[in-house]
Amino acid sequence: MTDIIIVGAGTAGLTAAIYALRAGKSVLLFEGLAVGGQIVNTPDVENYPGIAHMSGFEFASNLLEQAKSFGAELKYEPVKGIRAESGTWHVTTGSVDADGHEYEAKAVILATGAKNRPLGLEREQEMIGRGVSYCATCDGMFFRGKAVAVAGGGNTALEDAQFLANYCSHVYLIHRRDAFRGDEKSVELLRAKENVEFVLNSNVSAILGETKVEGVEVTDKFSGEKRVLDVSGLFIAVGQMPANEAFAGIVTLDEKGYIAAGEDCGTGTDGIFAAGDCRTKEVRQLTTAAADGAVAALAACKWLDAKG
Ligand code: NAP
Repeated sequence: MTDIIIVGAGTAGLTAAIYALRAGKSVLLFEGLAVGGQIVNTPDVENYPGIAHMSGFEFASNLLEQAKSFGAELKYEPVKGIRAESGTWHVTTGSVDADGHEYEAKAVILATGAKNRPLGLEREQEMIGRGVSYCATCDGMFFRGKAVAVAGGGNTALEDAQFLANYCSHVYLIHRRDAFRGDEKSVELLRAKENVEFVLNSNVSAILGETKVEGVEVTDKFSGEKRVLDVSGLFIAVGQMPANEAFAGIVTLDEKGYIAAGEDCGTGTDGIFAAGDCRTKEVRQLTTAAADGAVAALAACKWLDAKG
């Protein structure tokens, strides 16, 4: 029996582990894929207080080591459900292909983060790994010297375009509006790059190529005019969406699928807390994920102590 099971080892989950362990609770962390969450894909973190510059990968590695130094135990098993039984929470793991295990805890912190939102194009899924990618820092090197396209207008798309422009011959940045959602400073840096071209008020309407990406078709939102961009890679960076389906019967999800939990990280379900990007919130940043981890862990500790 563990005091607190934490689902998700991103910034929120790892921070929650540090706070709960330092408060003397036993903690078991679950991660389905890779530790660190979304920040591992950010080449340069420069907006976390006290850290001027650090790669997202290094940030996540440091956080993991810090949690481990306090005794965090981590299991690489995707959590597929939670149920209440005899006053405790039973967490089941496993995947579509394989059965997992069942673990018991007094309290659970859901820190499941968010996953990449697809563009919803025909053949988008089958072209993943054949030119379609959701992670420029992971896959960008495969496109050295080639022309690529980035779809999106937020900070991730801007960062991806910046990163790819360092070694790709040409980078088309395709955005559905004429104003970017991401920081103006990043937009200015991209404007100054000779090999970056903005394709605004446009949507990617088709992925071209039989077995791999050989181009993308973009359609102008106003004129309807279509244009083919000769690229070998399409990096999709159109935001994130939650992955909370497995917990729909345990906690309330909002209309977008985020866990309905306020700033106190309480879900309204006794002993279940939600932290980070997986919950309903205005600002999803590294700082707010870390803050949530602390708040959720301390709330869970208080709840456990009151329960006795
Ligand atoms: P985001 O800020 O939500 O931006 C998503 C972008 O994709 C928006 O420009 C949106 O267009 C566009 N989009 C959404 N759905 C689309 C669709 N179906 N077709 C075409 N375009 C679509 O997502 P993000 O860039 O991944 O960033 C997520 C959060 O992380 C943000 O808060 C961001 O500031 C933060 N972040 C911070 C850093 C950093 O500070 N270093 C780095 C990366 C991310 P519209 O603008 O028209 O809605």
